[in-house]
Amino acid sequence: MIRPADEIDFSLIRVRGTEVNYYIVCPRKLWFFSHGIEMERTSDRVALGRLLHEESYPRAHNREIMIDNLLRIDFNESTGTIHEIKLSRSFERAHVYQLLYYIYYLKNKGAERLTGVINYPKSKRVQRIDLTPENEAELERILAGVREIKSSQKCPPAKYTRKCRKCSYEELCWR
Ligand code: SF4
Repeated sequence: MIRPADEIDFSLIRVRGTEVNYYIVCPRKLWFFSHGIEMERTSDRVALGRLLHEESYPRAHNREIMIDNLLRIDFNESTGTIHEIKLSRSFERAHVYQLLYYIYYLKNKGAERLTGVINYPKSKRVQRIDLTPENEAELERILAGVREIKSSQKCPPAKYTRKCRKCSYEELCWR
């Protein structure tokens, strides 16, 4: 259990949102990323995602804020909503838990009742996200998994799945 009494130990929950996302997509991907092996800069898919983020979302009421030099979020103060923009729904569970992590982290800093919205501009889909006792418990399990992979000296073995076709590390694992 992460939370002793009413106090949270931030050293246990301080990870990057991307790390939560990658843990769900593939622990090996998280291991690469958290050990300084980054392929995102050369990935067309990641570049496309960034472009989408910059151009396709109406940000008039949002502002990008940096929390604890760790989390960069798009925040709408008037609605208390954190926004994420994603290219496709292929890794929906990873997107959901990445956003839940932001809400969870801020909740533990005292910001109650925040919600999240994931926009998929290409499919014009909007998904609303709320932190519940159930998904919070699952998130804490995920964070324990993230910590374990990050502290491991050994890279998890490659296992080919259809996720590999869209992964920026595909070349490293399979060519
Ligand atoms: S290519 Fe496949 S096995 Fe390798 S990191 Fe990506 S998802 Fe994981």
